[in-house]
Amino acid sequence: MTSTPALSVHDVTRTYGDPGNPVRALDGVTLTVAPGTFTAVMGPSGSGKSTFLNCAAGLESPSSGRILIGGEDVTDWSESRRTVLRREKIGIVFQSFHLMPYLNAEQNVGLPARLAGGRPDKARIRELLAVVGLAERSRHLPAELSGGQQQRVAIARALVGNPAILLADEPTGALDSASARDVLALLRTTVDTLGQTVLMVTHDPVAASYADEVVFMVDGLVAGRMGQPTAEAVAGQMAHLDDLVKVTS
Ligand code: ADP
Repeated sequence: MTSTPALSVHDVTRTYGDPGNPVRALDGVTLTVAPGTFTAVMGPSGSGKSTFLNCAAGLESPSSGRILIGGEDVTDWSESRRTVLRREKIGIVFQSFHLMPYLNAEQNVGLPARLAGGRPDKARIRELLAVVGLAERSRHLPAELSGGQQQRVAIARALVGNPAILLADEPTGALDSASARDVLALLRTTVDTLGQTVLMVTHDPVAASYADEVVFMVDGLVAGRMGQPTAEAVAGQMAHLDDLVKVTS
């Protein structure tokens, strides 16, 4: 059975700087993410991971190539249509949580609906706060929550619109290792029990081991993939990325 990919990226390039001296952050990335899967993107600093995630999130436009979210080609969408796309089809989680400090957990999770001019669905918010293990903390402000708890609120907020894909940019980068494990286990749970699709950029082999597949980026290209990753295997591959480039070039 074939199902529509949650995310489909075709030969995407992204060039920065002046045409005389361009920086090719993405050099022709092609990647398909099946629904209900957890993918980790790894690569050295400067390999194009953030640019890739920003393009997939509709936060920036590729210089060439196509991007499809849930089967819909969003490449040429206007900024206002992309704003709606991000609200309705994409959940984003950042390293630094990005919660509103003066809103409690419940209000933060309800914020996307308010920004869209609607009324938050209280039952759905309560359900999601329970999924992320914070049912008892719904009235707490971010400052009254640990880093791991704040990131779990951010995950609940990212899930509230039932997105086609959850994009996570180093979601454990600001956390201690125990909180990081909780957040990774939660992301895994959203895939296994809610059927969510997750794409996570990370530099941590342990984080990557929670994914179904790891995609290795080198110099703006997908240089290799690894299924059923273990932290050891990922760390080993990261130490020998040059070998991947030799195989693919
Ligand atoms: P990573 O997330 O893997 O560290 P990035 O996607 O941030 O990599 O960057 C890829 C390349 O693109 C790097 O060489 C970086 O310097 C360059 N780059 C990223 N963003 C910009 C920008 N706004 N202007 C110019 N160059 C950029």
